[in-house]
Amino acid sequence: MNQALEAALNEQITMELSSAYTYLAMAAYCESINLPGTAHWLEVQAKEELEHAMKIYEHVNDRGGRVVLKAIPEPVQDYASPVAVFEAVLAHEQKVTESIHKLYALAVAEKDYASLPLLHWFIEEQVEEEKSADEVLQKFRMAGESKSALLFLDSKLGKRDEE
Ligand code: MG
Repeated sequence: MNQALEAALNEQITMELSSAYTYLAMAAYCESINLPGTAHWLEVQAKEELEHAMKIYEHVNDRGGRVVLKAIPEPVQDYASPVAVFEAVLAHEQKVTESIHKLYALAVAEKDYASLPLLHWFIEEQVEEEKSADEVLQKFRMAGESKSALLFLDSKLGKRDEE
């Protein structure tokens, strides 16, 4: 496969794994402030990120490329509030979207057309990722300081299915 794209896809594998690590740290923070439902939502999200990494991992292998795993930075461990967590989730997903769009542009520029269906899938997935992060963020903002609203929202988030 195209070498520039191979290198960029390897970077993306690390970014997806790093997303999983970040969301798992957020889940642990939510456990520590007694929001187990929110923690569950973030754990499901972390597992999804591992699947994203594996999709790219398999593509690079299938194309005869070489997967090279890079270091994953230590994630942020503490947040000021659940609102701060979901502000960070949304900002992170926006960064991932930007990265996916760059990959798509690179695949087109390098005429690596076999990567386009995979990257197209990721473009659509990122629309969903940003939408769901923003929905949860808006709900936590609405709940504000209300303990009963927070408990209700936490139990709703705890019902997120494993996808
Ligand atoms: Mg992802």
